[in-house]
Amino acid sequence: MGIASPLKKIAVIGSTGSIGQQTLDIIRSLPQYFQIVALAGGENTRLLRQQIQEFKPQFISYLGKQDNIENSTFLSIEQMAVLPQADIVVMAIGGTAGLKPTLAAVRSGKKIALANKESLVMAGELITKSAGATRAELYPVDSEHSAIWQCLRGEKKISRIILTASGGPFVNYSMPQMAGVTAEQALQHPSWKMGKKITIDSATLMNKGLEIIEARWLFDVPFDNIEVVVHPQSIIHSMVEFIDGSIKAQISNPDMRLPILYALSYPERLEYRGVPRINWSNIGGFTFRSPNMDNFPCLKLAIEAGKKGGTYPTVLCSADETAVEFFLQGKIKFTDIAVLVEKALGRNHNVDSPTIEDITAAAAWARETVVRSINTI
Ligand code: MG
Repeated sequence: MGIASPLKKIAVIGSTGSIGQQTLDIIRSLPQYFQIVALAGGENTRLLRQQIQEFKPQFISYLGKQDNIENSTFLSIEQMAVLPQADIVVMAIGGTAGLKPTLAAVRSGKKIALANKESLVMAGELITKSAGATRAELYPVDSEHSAIWQCLRGEKKISRIILTASGGPFVNYSMPQMAGVTAEQALQHPSWKMGKKITIDSATLMNKGLEIIEARWLFDVPFDNIEVVVHPQSIIHSMVEFIDGSIKAQISNPDMRLPILYALSYPERLEYRGVPRINWSNIGGFTFRSPNMDNFPCLKLAIEAGKKGGTYPTVLCSADETAVEFFLQGKIKFTDIAVLVEKALGRNHNVDSPTIEDITAAAAWARETVVRSINTI
């Protein structure tokens, strides 16, 4: 019968973060399909060393001193992003720092399992145009976008994307209640276990706003055809409605290892038992409602910035990242995140169809603007 499929060689950029660790968990349990060829970590060199001992990658990268570890050769992040030995590059580096390696991977025509949404939000036009030219492929590693991608297999006639949102921990809070929440409270997400920055973004619904922009570029669907629905159970990961009115949904327990596995195994599916199957007899009810835009101004700001285009989405991303850092340090209130992002957006000197230099400059400017504004709020 069939020939055994060759091992897919994987480079993980951001291996010590939440998505990176879950990627290694998948690869650890499916060694007959995947092999780690390169690992790039951040500041957690202790964990990176453990990963290097376990997976013995040919290449490594980390912040700080540029040196080989054990038998692994040191590369820069940009070199790793374009590594010819990698069949798939998992871009699991968080935040605006993901832009440059993602663009480098796209420009060299790689297959990219993309967990870094900020790169698409900031440079969606540049990345998708470049991917068209180099035949780079973007495999979404965001649960909603993986759901949409799965629903779209074999389909072309889309009328609407319905992006589901858990609503985060403060879905039922009033504005005055939200002003008083602590970082500790905001870090308690009801259904997903994630990194700190994305957990705060989920609490403000900025994450859902970024995901609308991400979906616009990944699936080439206009903003007006993307709708957000709050679904607190986080079991339906998103839906696609087609021109005949029929809707497809992707359903599974909320666990990032499933979208990671789908991106790594695409276009195949692999047997995997690491995530519990849904038990339909005790799942309870599914509920849906519209998001409250007045209580979650970050969502509204993101939609506006996405529609304006140019450098607005970059300013949105960079200002938010900076404001979230200040919130986590206890320097500003939860509700100040939106205030600071709105201020930066209001002062943006827009550039249409920005180059990577324009985007980098706008991101640095937005960070500076937020840093200067925190004393005035
Ligand atoms: Mg998501």
